[in-house]
Amino acid sequence: MGLEAYWKKRNFEKTNEPEGDVETDGGNMYVIQKHQATHLHYDLRLEMDGVLKSWAVPKTPPTTYGLKRLAVQVEDHPIDYANFEGTIPEGQYGAGTVEIWDKGHYILKDRKEDKLIFEIIGTKLNGDYCLVRFKGKKNWLFFKKKS
Ligand code: MN
Repeated sequence: MGLEAYWKKRNFEKTNEPEGDVETDGGNMYVIQKHQATHLHYDLRLEMDGVLKSWAVPKTPPTTYGLKRLAVQVEDHPIDYANFEGTIPEGQYGAGTVEIWDKGHYILKDRKEDKLIFEIIGTKLNGDYCLVRFKGKKNWLFFKKKS
């Protein structure tokens, strides 16, 4: 996917978000950013393929079993974005405030085109999680898995 979609949506003279680039080393960072934009949502990001694979979760991310959350895949973000907190100015893409809600790393357990299983080692989220694509290209379900 790369970062073309990310760059295209933003004007880096106006937003203080990082411009970034695709990285070559493979880390395994995990972050969720609380994004108070037009609608409050939580951006789940996993470092993968030199970028942050990203999903917008409209409700509070699940900390317990039995809660399935819609997670809409959005454009890949640069790895630097994991540290971003601040205010995206009005009129810019994603205008509003961004704060880190949870952060840590993850251990990938299975990766298929329509399914990711990974252990999250975070502060708020911990344990085995699953992302399963269920409809179209962008809609996934995000939930905690019984280990
Ligand atoms: Mn967002």
